[in-house]
Amino acid sequence: MINIGCHLSSTGGFLAMGKHATELGADTFAFFTRNPRGGAAKDIDPEDAKALISYMKDNNFGKLVAHAPYTMNVCAEKESVRNFSWDVLSDDLDRMQYVPGNYYNLHPGSHVGQGTDIAVPMIADAINNALKPEHDTIVLLETMAGKGSEVGRTFEEIAMIIDRIELKDKIGVCFDTCHTWDGGYDNVNDFDGVLKEFDKVIGLDRLKAVHLNDSKNDRDTHKDRHELIGKGFLGLDAIRNIVTHPLLQGKPFILETPNDDPGYKDEIALIRSWM
Ligand code: FE
Ligand code: FE
Ligand code: ZN
Repeated sequence: MINIGCHLSSTGGFLAMGKHATELGADTFAFFTRNPRGGAAKDIDPEDAKALISYMKDNNFGKLVAHAPYTMNVCAEKESVRNFSWDVLSDDLDRMQYVPGNYYNLHPGSHVGQGTDIAVPMIADAINNALKPEHDTIVLLETMAGKGSEVGRTFEEIAMIIDRIELKDKIGVCFDTCHTWDGGYDNVNDFDGVLKEFDKVIGLDRLKAVHLNDSKNDRDTHKDRHELIGKGFLGLDAIRNIVTHPLLQGKPFILETPNDDPGYKDEIALIRSWM
């Protein structure tokens, strides 16, 4: 069994997201810690956070996968963008303490011409600066499609960042099925081989969550355009193979497909029918 959910709007607060997830048939969800395209974060109501924690317990939810804003780029060349991103990361990890024991996923970043040699230590420094021993959150680095100058397209790049993280028990990876495919990994014909490679380079114990997406593009195209489950280049058979894979059971799977609520509900029901 896996936990399955999708991205939800945080406008109504924490408990509202939990109830919304249930309406969709989900038992986990993802949410942006602040406006995905901006920086401002709403004040957290501690009572609302507590209400979600007990709601999740009562309804057997899996771990949540919070998502950093898209504007965050901790390895940006521009110092102002970089400083802003470092501050957001620190602040977000402090705020995650209201819902302890969950995951916080971020895109490693885009090196914008500086090269990965410069970007990798910057990303690790940003995480080391933000992540404190008292934090009860595991930070996840998302596997990226390699669009533009994105860092984290290859498992090797992710491993280089993890190597430099001081609090090793608080770092993991979120495996995005569209991104890895777009990045060149054959999730369709050799998913066993992809996981074997992940294990060799990063270690499967680091794989904590999955972003479950089909792709509008063929393998190794570095595009990052998500498609509805079964309607893209991965296709239904490959996606069924991924969600039922023995090595991935017990993990939260988050849909990031181009959907409205009824669409998510259908996709969640379809995936549950395979369990
Ligand atoms: Fe993402
Ligand atoms: Fe993703
Ligand atoms: Zn994507």
